[in-house]
Amino acid sequence: MGQSRSSVEIATCHTCKVSKPFSCFPKHKKKKNGIGTECKDCFKIYIKKWRLENRERYIKHAISWNKSHPEKRKALEANRRVRSVQGNVMLHYSQMKIIDTIYESSKRISDCIGINHHVDHIVPISKGGYHVHTNLQIIPAIINLRKSNKLNYSIP
Ligand SMILES: [Zn+2]
Repeated sequence: MGQSRSSVEIATCHTCKVSKPFSCFPKHKKKKNGIGTECKDCFKIYIKKWRLENRERYIKHAISWNKSHPEKRKALEANRRVRSVQGNVMLHYSQMKIIDTIYESSKRISDCIGINHHVDHIVPISKGGYHVHTNLQIIPAIINLRKSNKLNYSIP
């Protein structure tokens, strides 16, 4: 007696609903019949989707990094903004380090005294100023907003 094992065993994929031989399914030890519930083709699609979702998770991670490092983000953004206005301003690594430090100091000052400070371009970028440390100053945000892109604004 007993069932004939000679014929090819067929299973129906839960995802595409197509009946396929067992060889078209990935192995799955925990399942009674030893194979997964979806066929290899559907599994491949699933993996692709998983990779894409993880890429999105990675992007989300990058966004949250930006949120938790606002001063570094601002420095990067300012760099990008300047590049788009002035073409490629070649900064030496040590100069970029100084600029980073200025942005970090600005945040530290804001945290310490509880008044929001901005890093300001003394000569505004829109007026041809450069994004270099000699053209940067840390001033209270409210002054920065008043100064906007005015030239020769005397800080009270
Ligand atoms: Zn399938």
